[in-house]
Amino acid sequence: MKKQTKAIHFDYQQPDPYGALSMPVYNALAYEFDNSAVMADSFCGRNDLPDYSRVTNPTVTYFERKVREITGARDVIAFNSGMAAITAVLMGVCRSGSEIVTSRHLFGNTYLLMVKTLGRLGVKTTFLDLLDTEAVEMAVSRENVSCLFLEIMTNPQMEIADIRKLADAAHRHGVPVIADTTMIPFTEFNAGGLGVDIEIVSSTKYISGGGTSLGGLVIDYGGVDGFDTLMRRELLLNLGSYMTPQVAYMMNLGLENLNARYRLQSANAMAVASRLAEDKRIRVCYPGLADNPFHQICRDSFGGSYGAMLTFELPDEQSCYRFMDSLKLVKRATNLFDNRSLAIHPASTIFGPLTAEERKAMDVSDCLIRLSVGLEDPDDVVEDIFAAIDVALA
Ligand SMILES: *Cc1c(COP(=O)(O)O)cnc(C)c1O
Repeated sequence: MKKQTKAIHFDYQQPDPYGALSMPVYNALAYEFDNSAVMADSFCGRNDLPDYSRVTNPTVTYFERKVREITGARDVIAFNSGMAAITAVLMGVCRSGSEIVTSRHLFGNTYLLMVKTLGRLGVKTTFLDLLDTEAVEMAVSRENVSCLFLEIMTNPQMEIADIRKLADAAHRHGVPVIADTTMIPFTEFNAGGLGVDIEIVSSTKYISGGGTSLGGLVIDYGGVDGFDTLMRRELLLNLGSYMTPQVAYMMNLGLENLNARYRLQSANAMAVASRLAEDKRIRVCYPGLADNPFHQICRDSFGGSYGAMLTFELPDEQSCYRFMDSLKLVKRATNLFDNRSLAIHPASTIFGPLTAEERKAMDVSDCLIRLSVGLEDPDDVVEDIFAAIDVALA
């Protein structure tokens, strides 16, 4: 079966007594056992029976197994946010004294998790230019490097590094590769095939189906010894950030129609980017445009689609504010890949808590607007954006 068919036709592990067509929400917290021996086996991981919904729940398990079926991974674990998934993975591979090698261009909270929260626990992070494969190879050759962490398309810089090359370098030194693939859905490409050992997705974005709920996925391709056991037998229990059944239900519905939404949303983004690129007053960045420096690597790595996020630059911060305040259709909001088009000024919001020096080091420009293109007719989105640009530049 093709991925889209699996997204619809993955059967649940036990037949539903009523023949329900969608996986029911098992809003149960605890589960009864036939006898103490079976109960002991469940608590000690010797069978798959659910015991407590902080660790396992039939509705969440169904969603996890469907993603496993689609990605061909060894295991998939669902968390209650993208950040919870990233935290669990880094807690799994790092210990006091270890070093994370990563990009200067990172999602704001991932950066702060590494620098502040993990920093306090004695984990060091080195930020590099991931386009410089030699520098990365030098860094991963050091002792105590726990992982190479990367985002497949950085936000908001829209940089796309050569994952296969970086993974080869990391693997030459026995270092696992962890990739945040939130920007392109896992239905479009195979992260495991590019050399990624552990894939992380904020399912809040494309999967949830229009911003319905928060969630995260850890997709384990089996490259790290014992990682699946560590996650299921230790971290899920101790961190307590497992996905809830209601959210798994919504994520599953979103996954069923992801293909339809993604086709339209990425085509709309291409249409909006192409129209904006004709306006010489602004600088547009979208990897789908043929003159974008990452066009080729994006096409080669991610199956020929370019996602629904684009950015453009206005002359200064004040014109960005005027642009934002003049929007009538496009919403002033964070989040990505909602059904509605969204705009944000990243420097003053997501990256606002950072210092100006930190923003500069991360190439987060004060002049940048980020757009997530939705499912509206792109003509209406373009009209709203051009009207707001006219005000911004007046
Ligand atoms: C949104 C996002 C996250 C965090 O996900 P949440 O579900 O909001 O916790 C992590 N990485 C990237 C690239 C994101 O866009």
